[in-house]
Amino acid sequence: FAAKQSGEPYRRWSAGLDERSVEEARLGAQMRHALGERQFQVVYQPIVAMPEQRVAAVEALVRWHHPRLGTVSPARFIPVAERNGLIVELGAWILETACEQLVRWTAELGPGAPDRVSVNVSARQLARPGFAGTVADVLARTGLPARRLTVEVTETAVFDGGPAVTALHELRALGVRIALDDFGTGHSSLGLLQAVPVDVLKIDKSFVDRITEAGRHAVIAEAMIQVSHGLGLDAVAEGVETAEQAEALTRIGYRLLQGYHFGRPEAEPAFTATRSLIS
Ligand code: C2E
Ligand code: MG
Ligand code: MG
Ligand code: MG
Repeated sequence: FAAKQSGEPYRRWSAGLDERSVEEARLGAQMRHALGERQFQVVYQPIVAMPEQRVAAVEALVRWHHPRLGTVSPARFIPVAERNGLIVELGAWILETACEQLVRWTAELGPGAPDRVSVNVSARQLARPGFAGTVADVLARTGLPARRLTVEVTETAVFDGGPAVTALHELRALGVRIALDDFGTGHSSLGLLQAVPVDVLKIDKSFVDRITEAGRHAVIAEAMIQVSHGLGLDAVAEGVETAEQAEALTRIGYRLLQGYHFGRPEAEPAFTATRSLIS
């Protein structure tokens, strides 16, 4: 085998690759087990409407509490679940859990409950035939009205067109709202808005991070809010960590803010006492 003879670098690279795939296979097997053992949890982060600071919506985010590894980040295990297909089952569980939770909060809190829940959906879930049907079933079982559910997809998940975009049209027809997540970081941000049905743009944290500096990030964030409003879309700024960022975003027209400044993802977030803008 020629590559083997070429020496050390190949062997090291090859060994690294093996280790990664072994590690990935192990994580995948543990996830399958974890689903049965109820090691996954859904937590909720407030999306706050300005200036009144009402919790208008929550984003559902999955957590994995592994008995030995501790809490594993979704940034680590979601990509594995996408590759081994477990995301389909895990994602369906997350969706149903989140819809049930909003129905429960509505029963407990009435108008004090958030209006909507936002659920992240991966490329593989979306492209699978019958995804919109699964969503319709979950809505029927839980009794959550379709307009109270937002599905968050990334630009890359819908970039290729095809079945993922068909699924978005079907979801839209049910009355479910569509949000483009991490907006501005994919390949085709603006062009995509012509091709894909969208209700909400979620402006990526990387723009929010530098919003208080007079520079290109602030200019782009301002252009994005103008595009959103011009197209009649909602815009959410993600990753707001400071009062200064919240103030700068509000000044340029953002009405929906999400980030640690207002609340971290929690199992039972407080819907009334969010932190004050000027703190
Ligand atoms: P995302 O959908 O863009 O979610 C936002 C991420 O930013 C979350 O990380 C959230 O905890 C974090 N975040 C929110 N506010 C702040 C802030 O002020 N500062 C900082 N530094 N971070 C903030 P998380 O929960 O670790 O999730 C990471 C990514 O994993 C998500 O990005 C999403 O792409 C994926 N993910 C999480 N839960 C799910 C899920 O249920 N299904 C799918 N398919 N993907 C998920
Ligand atoms: Mg998201
Ligand atoms: Mg995001
Ligand atoms: Mg993200």
